Amino acid sequence: MLVELGKPLEVIDVALAPPAPGRILVRTGATPFCATDVLNAQGLFGKVPPTILGHASTGVVEEVGPEVSGVAVGDRVVVHGTAECGRCFYCVRGRPDQCSVIFDRPAGPPVVGTLPDGRSVTAAGNVGGYAAMMSADARQVVPVTTSLPDAVLGMLGCGVTTGLGSVFNVARVVPGSDVAVVGCGQLGLWTIQAAVLAGASRVVAVDPDVTRRELAVRCGATDVVDPAEADPVEQVRALTGGYGVSYAIETAGPTDAQRDALLMTHRAGTVVLTGCAPTGSQVVFPQVPLAIQGRAVLSSQNGNVRMHHDIPRYVRLLEEGRIDPTPILTRTYKLEQINDSLADSRDLRGVTTVLIP
Ligand SMILES: [Zn+2]
Ligand SMILES: [Zn+2]
Repeated sequence: MLVELGKPLEVIDVALAPPAPGRILVRTGATPFCATDVLNAQGLFGKVPPTILGHASTGVVEEVGPEVSGVAVGDRVVVHGTAECGRCFYCVRGRPDQCSVIFDRPAGPPVVGTLPDGRSVTAAGNVGGYAAMMSADARQVVPVTTSLPDAVLGMLGCGVTTGLGSVFNVARVVPGSDVAVVGCGQLGLWTIQAAVLAGASRVVAVDPDVTRRELAVRCGATDVVDPAEADPVEQVRALTGGYGVSYAIETAGPTDAQRDALLMTHRAGTVVLTGCAPTGSQVVFPQVPLAIQGRAVLSSQNGNVRMHHDIPRYVRLLEEGRIDPTPILTRTYKLEQINDSLADSRDLRGVTTVLIP
């Protein structure tokens, strides 16, 4: 629980309200720690305490509120990072990645319970996954039947979907192409695996950390670039006959990485931006490569997935071993150790930690 900005997260008993209409209670199985919560804990990404962080998870439905359909008590569910209401301005335009249930909430995130001192507690991202029990919007869960462990299933709601969706749905990588992935944390490593699966011939992994570059190779990267060694744009161009790649997918966050990703593509290439820096950050792009040279610059929110269509397919890819969580899942922590998770993420120790209540 984020009780005060800039302070360690706390594990506190919350008096959970019964689920409001359209909401369900889910007993948490496992929630991966997401790098965006390093920003959230510092107050750099818009969350207002007291709030339970953790925007994607997995678990078993414990209680169903009024006006809920499509999910029942006892269902094992993936709790997705984005709702899909099917009816809002965005959903009817085929863009559930921008669903109003998440992004158009003038009153802020829903209140899900109260602290011992009487203050109301909200669920960040509509979910609040860093807790033993989640109060989630029923339009944000997908029932699944699988023997995958919770620690893996939990990664589907944000990391897997954003990485795979950025390649399949946003960039639409075609076989035989060249792809650069800028940043080899959780998101980058899923993205690399997706680029391989899409049939890319060359996958260039860019990261200053040697361990992450090694993991990138384990995930199928054909080339690695250390941006600390020389200009990463020049290095990527040198690997691709001087042209640059057809697709550059930025999975790092810093605004410089987003500019570099643009410049790593050849003229008329495709750039996908997925990373987040503190709210209000500005990306500066040189004008001619952006305005004249035909590049497509695309944003990716949760991989633009349609959760009921894409998550069952991604579950299958995991079950078949065609994508592999092993290089990405560094360790699990008990919920009480959440500040260790936060410190690991902040200090880039390992790749992903998963919290088990
Ligand atoms: Zn996330
Ligand atoms: Zn919607």
